[in-house]
Amino acid sequence: MAASKMMQFVAVPQTLPHKRSVEERVQDFGEIYDRFRPERAAEQASRCEQCGIPFCQIHCPLHNNIPDWLRMTAEGRLEEAYELSSATSAMPEICGRICPQDRLCEGNCVIEKGFNSVTIGTVERYINDTAFEMGWVKPPVPLRERNGSVAIIGAGPAGYSAAFELRRKGWQVDVYDRYDRAGGLLMYGIPGFKLEKEVVVRRTRLLEEAGVRFHLGCDVGAPGQPSFAELRARHDAVFIGTGVYKARALQVPGVGLPGVVPALHYLTASNRKSLGDEVAAFDDGSLNAAGKHVVVVGGGDTAMDCVRTAIRQGALSVKCLYRRDKENMPGSMREVKHAEEEGVEFVWLSAPEAFVGEARVEAVRAVRMRLGAPDSTGRQSPEQVPNSGFRLPADLVIAALGFDPEDHLAMFGEPELKVSRWGTITIDWSTMQTNLEGVFAGGDIVRGASLVVWGVRDGRDAAAAMHRYLLNRTAEHDALATAA
Ligand code: FAD
Ligand code: SF4
Ligand code: SF4
Repeated sequence: MAASKMMQFVAVPQTLPHKRSVEERVQDFGEIYDRFRPERAAEQASRCEQCGIPFCQIHCPLHNNIPDWLRMTAEGRLEEAYELSSATSAMPEICGRICPQDRLCEGNCVIEKGFNSVTIGTVERYINDTAFEMGWVKPPVPLRERNGSVAIIGAGPAGYSAAFELRRKGWQVDVYDRYDRAGGLLMYGIPGFKLEKEVVVRRTRLLEEAGVRFHLGCDVGAPGQPSFAELRARHDAVFIGTGVYKARALQVPGVGLPGVVPALHYLTASNRKSLGDEVAAFDDGSLNAAGKHVVVVGGGDTAMDCVRTAIRQGALSVKCLYRRDKENMPGSMREVKHAEEEGVEFVWLSAPEAFVGEARVEAVRAVRMRLGAPDSTGRQSPEQVPNSGFRLPADLVIAALGFDPEDHLAMFGEPELKVSRWGTITIDWSTMQTNLEGVFAGGDIVRGASLVVWGVRDGRDAAAAMHRYLLNRTAEHDALATAA
């Protein structure tokens, strides 16, 4: 294959794959972007400058070898591009879809000012979706089996990534998850218009084909379920990747009224419905926005997913109430743009004061905010504008204020497990190990609510550390057996 000409960013403008029209995409929960056509992917990849110090790679949490797989894509060497892209990531096609690239790889692409960045995420998705179709993606079957076994608690991105890497190295891997489907927030949190569920199921299937055993519906530490101590006794090492699920509560009057619901309940019901499950709370209308005036409180990715879900369910109106302005919101700007296109109304610099109604919520009483002095993190603190109250009609209020860890003492019954003052599990970052012998952790349960790509990174790092730990442990056992 002829070598490509790279550095085409001057001649070739940035192009994204075809985006479905608003009218079409709000009718369903399918992803909104089509895939690149091969010639378009090669053309877009050829815009890369092949930097000597690639800032895109430095700012990718996985340090993916971006310049090399872009060059291979541009040269039509797609199978090699796939080998390289999958060498550092257990789920490149998923990160390519849902990483906030504007804050990570693409946001740090150094293409000259005035030209837009290389579309790294969409090329990554293209390479890996093509690899699945061509049959290049194989289960992580090890070259040799090893005797040690590991328990992974939590089948989210962190657990998947650890399972993928450990199985590849030959260890016996058992994954325990309290849900009935694997994937964690990839399955029940993130909506299908960002990540279709078949993409997640395809990954689970690969792990199963490689011999990873999934124990679903297994709520570790709950009555009648295996305890944490039992898993430690049953396996040679344990990885905790249980995520963060305790919704931060709104502290305003009327929060207990029917019709005020937590974001994850709402999104889980919607995802389950799309997967074909019976969902009583959706069917009876309590977790369904159809025909309602909806107000979502919050400005992060979860809030963006809620507003766009409500639009697809046929809400009469959808408003997003956020106490800071657009420039200071934590959610991805790309998602805000999609939401605006789809008809969501943003009410910036506003916060709820109370939810009002008789038998159920009927309105939100809100107040205007302004940005005051910066706090200790340098972020301007919002403060109320006096006498600025206003009212928004609402039949459904969705609270999307973020998540905290659950009580680990209650979950794991292990008073010795060290946690931070925020309740996240404390680890030694050089070994990914907790203060308990043979117990490792990663993902949101260590970082607090974070990103899929950081979960994948932690799973990968923890697997490397667990591999070393298990090799030492096996060697010690063998030495003891020989001495005896
Ligand atoms: P999780 O994905 O939360 O998985 C943890 C798993 O542990 C779950 O399956 C849970 O059932 C299981 N578990 C918990 N306790 C137990 C127990 N006691 N026994 C057995 N199993 C247990 N990130 C992005 O990068 N891009 C996005 O677009 C994006 N959108 C998001 C949208 C929403 C609505 C939310 C809530 C988050 C979003 N995130 C996004 C963040 C991302 O989903 C998380 O950072 C990521 O999933 C964390 O991975 P994890 O493996 O640590 O935990
Ligand atoms: Fe960019 Fe995420 Fe892919 Fe890294 S994993 S290259 S940050 S899309
Ligand atoms: Fe290519 Fe941009 Fe990365 Fe440079 S920073 S190697 S131009 S993708």
